[in-house]
Amino acid sequence: RSPSDGNIRYDSTTKTNPWSSLPFSQRYHDILKKRLKLPVYLFRENLLKTVNANQVIVVEGETGSGKTTQIPQFLVEDGIPTMGKTCVACTQPRRVAATSIAARVADEMDVELGGEVGYTIRFEDVTSNNTVLKFMTDGMLLREAMSDPLLSRYAAICLDEAHERTLATDVLMGLLQEILPKRPDLKLIVMSATLDAEKFQNYFKKAPLMKVPGRTHPVEIFYTQAPERNYVEAAVRTALQIHQCEGPGDILVFLTGEAEIEESCKQMRETAASFPSNVGELVVYPLYSSLPPAAQKKIFNAAPPAKVAGGVPGRKVVVSTNIAETSLTIDGIVYVVDPGFSKQKIFNPRARVESLLVSPISQASAKQRAGRAGRTQPGKCFRLYTEISFKNDLQSTTYPEILRSKMSSVVLTLKKLQIDDLVHFDFLDPPAPETLMRALELLNYHGALDDEGDMTDIGYKMAEMPLDPQLAKLLLVAPEYNCSNEILSIVACLSVPGVFMRPKEQAKLADEAKAQFAVQDSDHCTLLNAYNAYLHEGTSQWCWDNFINERSMSSADNVRKQLVRIMKKLDLPLNSNDSKSPSYYTAVRQALTSAMFMQVAYLQRAGTYLTIKDNQNVMLHPSTDVQGKPQWVMYEEFVLTSKNYIRTCTTTQVDWLVSCAPHYYDLSNFPECEAKGELELAYRRLAHRAVGGKK
Ligand code: ADP
Ligand code: MG
Repeated sequence: RSPSDGNIRYDSTTKTNPWSSLPFSQRYHDILKKRLKLPVYLFRENLLKTVNANQVIVVEGETGSGKTTQIPQFLVEDGIPTMGKTCVACTQPRRVAATSIAARVADEMDVELGGEVGYTIRFEDVTSNNTVLKFMTDGMLLREAMSDPLLSRYAAICLDEAHERTLATDVLMGLLQEILPKRPDLKLIVMSATLDAEKFQNYFKKAPLMKVPGRTHPVEIFYTQAPERNYVEAAVRTALQIHQCEGPGDILVFLTGEAEIEESCKQMRETAASFPSNVGELVVYPLYSSLPPAAQKKIFNAAPPAKVAGGVPGRKVVVSTNIAETSLTIDGIVYVVDPGFSKQKIFNPRARVESLLVSPISQASAKQRAGRAGRTQPGKCFRLYTEISFKNDLQSTTYPEILRSKMSSVVLTLKKLQIDDLVHFDFLDPPAPETLMRALELLNYHGALDDEGDMTDIGYKMAEMPLDPQLAKLLLVAPEYNCSNEILSIVACLSVPGVFMRPKEQAKLADEAKAQFAVQDSDHCTLLNAYNAYLHEGTSQWCWDNFINERSMSSADNVRKQLVRIMKKLDLPLNSNDSKSPSYYTAVRQALTSAMFMQVAYLQRAGTYLTIKDNQNVMLHPSTDVQGKPQWVMYEEFVLTSKNYIRTCTTTQVDWLVSCAPHYYDLSNFPECEAKGELELAYRRLAHRAVGGKK
């Protein structure tokens, strides 16, 4: 690559910002000083030499050594992308990581976010023609491959956090095996924390491995003597104790999700407020994926100073999901509180349900978490479980997601990419054949694949939509029921974090507010009502008064606009019934039935629900607006807790089920159950009507 080919090359000695031709800002120089101290900087020349001599390299490095923020920049500085033509991609398993790292790197490069450096996550594209470095979720890169099978827009791809083994990263690795020989100019850098690197190296035909040692300090591990009954309470208590008793240094607490995190942050703030004045100030920051970017940024704020000159210094505590385990590094953490849980995807192919379940982490995760305490000085990690439990109960590593996922969306993607032989596709860890069969079956029932397993016209259209296949199908069928406008709003609401807020201490008020939008036989229609009300009334005050999550609604609005664009591209009409007519909600329920016929539960004589075909005992989730106990209920989600709940429900009718999905409700091979008799009757009614119609 010659310097005359128009590709900008520069390094840390360059004085003028090559992108703007202006002198670098003071902030650039301040950050540069820190960047030059990152361990990965010592490897810059060697890394670039290796990249130039090899198509694939694997980089293994301690978390915080600078892989994510620096390596993609090295590639840009080396002139690998050509502005306006190609760029460097760096994939992240999580949206928050992609957006937050992009913002950081834009600062580091002294450019505007969305210009030379940008990010792409589902439903949000902050890039431009000038983008040379793009952070994106692994799922988005996979999606782009569908319209650009050779990934020709990229000069180099950094597959980051490969050790996390997310479904999309695993599939991308398989795909890249096929793309690389066809794109000799494409560079692939597989980046991983200190786990599994050799596995990646072997998978990519002995690609060279570079190890970046981190600068870590020893971390002392403490265990509890007895198991904790309530890990959230224990985590709060431990963090507050550290604050009162331990030397300076910030605290990182790992919890599993938004509700838990917000609740414990609140408790910590309240308790800390009543501490005596000889205890330093405590600032508490939550960190989870649906947090607004400005709030996410705060985790990097410095801890508060002492209340009085010479007094005890203040401290910050970050209460985070797994995102802080390896994706984001917060400097200054000295204490880690690890309750030993995270939310993990679990898939049961027999019941065909995928659920997010709070589950014990692996030993490898526990070690990563502990490591976060030793970034800047020796630290301490408080594990809220016993040492015996660590040794005996925790698995050594987390199972790759591909072994725990519903594969329907991936199979549709691979089919679109013309990878037909899924059994021989080079997966790093092949998914269970039964899971693949279930996925093929689902796509066949939805008409996306024909009986030979080839993609149909419906399948192509479904693959165009950045949605789960069932939601994509829903948008495809909605116009036939004259309610695509309504379905669009519902799908948009289902694609964002919860729109109804229900703070514990105001649960009753929140429920009353939600009741204004409630539709008796459909939670989906309740969402639709809330969305419509938001469109008419949507001030911040109105959202606040009505316990509507304004941020979620505004992203739903944005999602809807993008889905409308896709509908238009696919020539799907936008239509509505009169909102005053009785068929307004009925049409929506019928459209839902055409797409959700595989997620149906039937009320048995004993008064309990059993899911159709898979025979799982389930209950309506307490949040539902569905009243009484209707005979047939469709559900969006299967929630596994101490009981099996179905959430976001809509009632349906047996006659609708048999007429829209006779191939699925095929009684010749239907398991024995109480519902079968009803289905038989419905088929008879259907036949009768057909005969009657002919007369
Ligand atoms: P790795 O990918 O090897 O885990 P990163 O490149 O993510 O390492 O991080 C390198 C350094 O950059 C860390 O010390 C981290 O604290 C710092 N850093 C990353 N993002 C930010 C940010 N938004 N604000 C301040 N520092 C940051
Ligand atoms: Mg990283």
